Amino acid sequence: MAMTPTYATILTDDSSHQRLRKSKVDKKYVYAFADGDGKNKQLLGGKGANLCEMTQFGLNVPPGFVITTEACLDYLENDKLPEGLMEEVKKEIADLEKATGKGYGSGENPLLVSVRSGSALSMPGMMDTILNLGLNDETMAGLIEQTGDERFAYDAYRRFIQLFGKVALGIEDEKFDPLFEDVKKQAGVKADVGLSVDHLKEISAKFLDVVRSETGEDFPQDVMVQLELSVKAVFRSWMGKRAVDYRREFKITPDMANGTAVNVCTMVFGNRGDDCATGVGFTRNPGTGDNEMFGEYLVNAQGEDVVAGIRTPKPIQEMGEEMPELYEELVDLRNKLEEHYKEVQDYEFTIENGTLYCLQTRNGKMNAAATVQTSVDMFREGLITREQALLRINPELLEQLLHPRLDPEADAKAVATGLPASPGAASGKCVFDADRAELMGNEGEKVILVREETRPEDIHGFFASEGILTSRGGKTSHAAVVARGMGKPCVAGAEGIVVDVAARLARIGDKIIHEGDVITLDGGTGEVYLGAIPTIPAHFSDNLAELLGWADETASLKVMANADTPAAAEQAREYGAMGIGLCRTERMFNATDRLPVVIDMILANTAEDRVAALNRLLPIQRADFIKVFTAMSPNPVTVRLLDPPMHEFLPTEHDLLEQIENLEVYRKIVRGRQAAIATLDHEVHLPEALEELSEEHVNDALARKERMLRKVRELEEVNPMLGHRGVRLGITYPEIYEMQIQAILEAAMECAEKGVDVLPEIMVPQVITLQEIKHVKRTADTIVAKLEAEHGKELKFKFGTMIETVRACTRAWHLAGVAEFFSFGTNDLTQATFSFSREDAENKFLPMYNESSVLQDNPFEVLDVKGVGKLIKMAVKGGREQREDLKIGICGEQGGHPDSIQFCHDAGLNYVSCSGPRVPVARLAAAQAKLRADESGGLSVTQGLHAA
Ligand code: ADP
Ligand code: MG
Ligand code: MG
Repeated sequence: MAMTPTYATILTDDSSHQRLRKSKVDKKYVYAFADGDGKNKQLLGGKGANLCEMTQFGLNVPPGFVITTEACLDYLENDKLPEGLMEEVKKEIADLEKATGKGYGSGENPLLVSVRSGSALSMPGMMDTILNLGLNDETMAGLIEQTGDERFAYDAYRRFIQLFGKVALGIEDEKFDPLFEDVKKQAGVKADVGLSVDHLKEISAKFLDVVRSETGEDFPQDVMVQLELSVKAVFRSWMGKRAVDYRREFKITPDMANGTAVNVCTMVFGNRGDDCATGVGFTRNPGTGDNEMFGEYLVNAQGEDVVAGIRTPKPIQEMGEEMPELYEELVDLRNKLEEHYKEVQDYEFTIENGTLYCLQTRNGKMNAAATVQTSVDMFREGLITREQALLRINPELLEQLLHPRLDPEADAKAVATGLPASPGAASGKCVFDADRAELMGNEGEKVILVREETRPEDIHGFFASEGILTSRGGKTSHAAVVARGMGKPCVAGAEGIVVDVAARLARIGDKIIHEGDVITLDGGTGEVYLGAIPTIPAHFSDNLAELLGWADETASLKVMANADTPAAAEQAREYGAMGIGLCRTERMFNATDRLPVVIDMILANTAEDRVAALNRLLPIQRADFIKVFTAMSPNPVTVRLLDPPMHEFLPTEHDLLEQIENLEVYRKIVRGRQAAIATLDHEVHLPEALEELSEEHVNDALARKERMLRKVRELEEVNPMLGHRGVRLGITYPEIYEMQIQAILEAAMECAEKGVDVLPEIMVPQVITLQEIKHVKRTADTIVAKLEAEHGKELKFKFGTMIETVRACTRAWHLAGVAEFFSFGTNDLTQATFSFSREDAENKFLPMYNESSVLQDNPFEVLDVKGVGKLIKMAVKGGREQREDLKIGICGEQGGHPDSIQFCHDAGLNYVSCSGPRVPVARLAAAQAKLRADESGGLSVTQGLHAA
């Protein structure tokens, strides 16, 4: 362009400046479905963004527009709608009028709309939606004329008055419902469809009266006022109790979803005759993952009827026969949705006089088995890549796969059957309302929530229950959807059950179930049983094995298990553990046949006595190690030497005092009996059992208990966790570690001689200084030398240390001089870093700290990346500077938590170790950690996320 550079610069500067100012003053709050950015869920909410996207890629969505979440936040902050918002809305309404050829508020051809909530994350049923907006006395006439269906019009009107009354004016359902039921009763009809025009007219009139008497004002006739009040009500529902509770429970933070958008959408009607229908669908079966049409529909009904479970809908396949052409269209819609989103979709549709509309779509919530199967299937179908298949699964979900099933051997007969709405089996005491469920659940009772149907306000009852049972509603009813999301078993629509909340009982035929009676649900079959039925653990599916195989190939972190016994080792191996990262030898001590020997060892007053007891323990430990090593062969097994303070193996002082007191009483009885027998002049035959315990026996027992008591008092410490334990114990009583090391190495030697390939790793707990490690290492070296000489065979093993004290982190460079591996014990390390004792923290102040956001998470569950993580990084750096190939892992509980695993990957650890059932979760999380790190170009994701 022929402009001088200077001029151009000024112009650009100026105009960008103006643009900036303009955007501040007239921020755009409203977007038509045809214009909104389908990717911007933060701004438009999930529902709104998808309505935009579907419109733009050519699906038949009724025209409408989205009011942004920014407008919501602005409204909530200032308690009034942002300036200019309603003008923008009016402009969009005018566009809707143009697009539909109808008039908003028109008495001839009225445009009706719905006002729907929707935030960035789906919170099913947590916020409010109002349908049939724009009805008033005038538009009613128009609607009747337009449709020629007076009954339909009044049905729409009464629904609208109630919904608007409830949501926008705060009038409870209880004010409306009984009036509706009265009319039904008087008319002698059971289902809503049996009501005539006159009935519905009567109901509408009564409902208008309710509004008048409850609010002192007439129902708003001005359709713009209706719209404005509705928008405000939906915005406010973001801060409603239900929504707030839900966000707290699911840890939805403002950076995940902040405010709700409002979607204003032209109404389409599924209840205008037999060529109308409404339904919800999943693009695949969310219960099994099968690639098939799945969903439910109702002919001549409105969407809310399906969702609320008011009528029990039909399976979507029946639509193939009832409305074959529309069914084909629906199949086509389903295919387009999946091709576009490359993800299983959960969609809502309505058919109005033979035209199919899509009203909503979102990523389908599925149970774990279905999620895994769809991942494997969609990869095979070429719809997604292997990386996408791994990334689309929330690792936590996999825990569901390890949920129990009903034991098929259990010869139980179901008393009722409903729809298998969410798989898994659960037993518990029946409760008939959510408040009671919460109350009993909090007391630690296992409860099953039994309801006719559930509503969003029951949500707290779901959290507290093991499972949900409803007598009405389908697989997409509120109960089913919410239970599936939570991974809890649900049987829905068990129509044979009649729930009587007032009487606190339910009837099944002539059987009566009272509140508190135990029942069992099988959410996989829909069956309901009386009493508690035994369950069996779930099985690893081939799909899961395949998926986790991909995960292992992808991940750089290895996943080990914490396992203390041969049985736990076997189980961990089944879960795919690549070794044992932590075998706590003291857990082996607790078995009933060993504890007395351990106690002898502790009671020993001389080294000699102690060695005698230890010699009895040696073969026991060795045999255990042989089994554990063999179960894990050829993978490494890290064995931790004795860690807890010795008093943990003894009874408490309180218990001992009580036992001694009882023994003394008993001694008196024995003496008394002796005396009594002596005074009798005839012979007495006492049962043998009583003869056995002579006074001598009692005295022996007493003496032992008294010794224990002295020992307990001697061992008493002010702060046992900071006291005489771990390597401190190992150094002051060297015989103990000697025995343990000998047992480990002899076991390894025995395995090696049998040709079993094993890799033991000896790990020293609670280390603070190199001197401690050297001390223990010398013992190991002596034993190895002896063993190797005896067997003429070299032993493979590693020697290393836990890193669980702050000092160890700071001295890592030195420790790695001897230690060949580090294992972060993040439980103790967290306690030490925070100066919290875990039990006191979790029982006293931590919950409050979390609730009031003083601390975001429980650091004993989610690794504290900012604090503990810093120490870990320091130790990794120091350790690897000293020893390049230092093997480093984590064995605290946090090692099974996906966020912590991401951190471990980024910090360059070699492995994480967690409890057996967490292993599948960790394997997937390890793969995701790698994929995410690669995606962000090797830049630490957690560093970015958790930066202070
Ligand atoms: P939720 O998020 O609770 O599902 P929705 O906004 O999707 O709430 O609406 C509730 C019900 O009303 C759904 O069944 C939906 O399909 C139906 N619905 C919403 N808007 C319309 C509309 N414009 N026309 C017909 N039905 C609608
Ligand atoms: Mg919906
Ligand atoms: Mg520890």
